[in-house]
Amino acid sequence: MSARVYLDYNASAPVWPEAADAVDEAMRAGANASSIHAPGRAARARIEDARESVARLVGADPAGIVFTGGGTEANNQAIRCSGAERVLVSAIEHESVLSADEKAEILPVDPEGVVDPEALDRALAGDARSALVAVMLANNETGVIQPVARVAEIARRRGARVHCDAVQAAGKIPVDAASLGADSYALSAHKIGGPQGVGALVLRDPDAAGRLIHGGGQERGRRAGTENVAGVVGFGRAAGIVGERLEEFARLSALRDAMEAELHAVDPEAWTVGDRAPRLPNTSMTVMPGCESAAQVIAMDLDGIAVSAGSACSSGRIRLPYVLEAMGVDEAAAMCALRVSLGWWTTPDEIDRFVASWADLRRRTARRVA
Ligand code: PLP
Repeated sequence: MSARVYLDYNASAPVWPEAADAVDEAMRAGANASSIHAPGRAARARIEDARESVARLVGADPAGIVFTGGGTEANNQAIRCSGAERVLVSAIEHESVLSADEKAEILPVDPEGVVDPEALDRALAGDARSALVAVMLANNETGVIQPVARVAEIARRRGARVHCDAVQAAGKIPVDAASLGADSYALSAHKIGGPQGVGALVLRDPDAAGRLIHGGGQERGRRAGTENVAGVVGFGRAAGIVGERLEEFARLSALRDAMEAELHAVDPEAWTVGDRAPRLPNTSMTVMPGCESAAQVIAMDLDGIAVSAGSACSSGRIRLPYVLEAMGVDEAAAMCALRVSLGWWTTPDEIDRFVASWADLRRRTARRVA
């Protein structure tokens, strides 16, 4: 069989060879970045280079970058350590945001999966308690981009702070932390071709972080624990690479749109979630009516194609996708949605193979139903 086709970049992007080399080199160099001897200082220098590279990717001040053990930890730190009396989160946030505060108030989204800033304004009006609002920049399942700048504007007017999960957006669309106006952002290395298990909390005010992990004074006292030098270095290298390739990534939308048009032509009843809203250029979630997502993923896997039935972060649990539920998609359709996410190495041939596999499955299941 020909080489496997990987269309699951939103779960984890393939690691850039340059990032893998940088990880390898940093690991072999070793040393603790807190040590004052020469090898320790070299490790520290590697971390500081990576900090600048990650900051550059999102237009932030390097002093505001706190390296964490991934996007999940960054979201948890931003929310659990905010000290706010109220936490408001959009209904389509990643689970690392939704479950960070069990008392969080949920902000609705419209049928395209876009959070309603006016609902936020109403929720904040006339309540004197301190508040933190969490709205992601782009949804991991649908790719739908959220009006974060507008959310931040409303929040600021109402005296609330904003945290933005930019894990899926960074490296895929231009992200400028200052103009978006949130107080903090979460990033994750493995979504941009860096290693897994490393991410960052990006702070507008470098001294504003509450501590989630207690211990030593690493990361200027904002995240205890010996630094993951190799992971951070790989993150920095990946950030540098994807920052240079944003235009190339934008071109994926033409490939993605053509793919969706072909699927809709194969089955006029198939439809794509959130396609009337602004989306990431690489993400597509399409419903194949009558064929459950898990069956689609398995059939594609047998054809050598890796796709996803929604969030891969939830370890294969079959459940109604809450993002689609929040958008008002009916249960039968929601259970038949397939997420395809393209990336830097996706080729038109690979998309042709996916469309052929999808069409073949459609024909086989349609026959069974008839
Ligand atoms: N936020 C979003 C939007 C994600 O898609 C993910 C992972 O899928 C995370 C946060 C969690 O990041 P990590 O896997 O680095 O913990």
